[in-house]
Amino acid sequence: MNGEFVAWEDAKVHVLTHALHYGTGVFEGVRAYATDQGPAIFRHFDHLARLEASAKLYYMPLPFSTEELRTATHELISRSGLRSCYIRPLAFRGHGPMGLDPESNPVEVSIAVWEWGAYLGDAGKRDGIRARVSSWRRMSPQSTIPHSKATGQYLNSVLAKIEAKRAGYEEAIMLDDHGHVSEGSGENLFIVKDGTIFTPPQTASILDGISRRSIIQIAADLGTPVVERAIARAELVLADEVFLVGTAAELTPVREVDDIEIGPPGEVTREIQGIYDDALNGRNPRYEHWLDRVAVPSAV
Ligand code: PMP
Repeated sequence: MNGEFVAWEDAKVHVLTHALHYGTGVFEGVRAYATDQGPAIFRHFDHLARLEASAKLYYMPLPFSTEELRTATHELISRSGLRSCYIRPLAFRGHGPMGLDPESNPVEVSIAVWEWGAYLGDAGKRDGIRARVSSWRRMSPQSTIPHSKATGQYLNSVLAKIEAKRAGYEEAIMLDDHGHVSEGSGENLFIVKDGTIFTPPQTASILDGISRRSIIQIAADLGTPVVERAIARAELVLADEVFLVGTAAELTPVREVDDIEIGPPGEVTREIQGIYDDALNGRNPRYEHWLDRVAVPSAV
């Protein structure tokens, strides 16, 4: 935290932290996997680059370089003794003048690691989940910045998630402000129809997901066509296969949308999920360049 290693119970902030009041923080969700050569952080550089991009979009100078954040993360994992973990870097406007102009508040930075299993459950990853289209639209790029992974913006996802969970579904699918399919509350979305994969484009209020980029690459390597284009709500239900991807959820199939059966995870979903799991866990040499391997005492 701010350049020091701090015990879990001491990682605290003041109640007048600007970000607590106004959501002025940017963050990342990253994972490290236990491979047979020790922990490996999946696409670490891409996550750190997105953190920088998120900060830039909100006029927030980061007090540490990407390399400093990377090195600190390695040391944190090594010290934690964890071999697989979720990694949460956060940069936020701290305690200072209490007003909407944050530019003279300090930018504080923390990185936390902990163990976190499949976000939508192991059963979800295996059998697929039930999702509903949210009554909440994904935030409009006319009022905030979908491309920035900013803390305050997540109120939009939180509303969608609560609505879906209370109604008995595992995840919400959000439409953008034009009524086109955007993404899940914390995942990008893909559909498969007649052997072609479709995913909403950058202009559909999505976060530019790193899992999404990985899936597009894997599909390209398999020779499966991927088309980024606007997706109508009905296409979700009429798809042969639907799946969600994100760092927390990894690749989770969707078996039902709005109480209409899509079916158990299909062939394309399964194949890509298998390759993706191997890539994440350091079992596929083709995607070795996606791994940032962490030196830990026990692996030497
Ligand atoms: N969309 C949203 C809104 C998210 O919060 C996330 C998780 N970061 C994603 C998509 C997926 O992004 P990634 O694959 O980079 O985790």
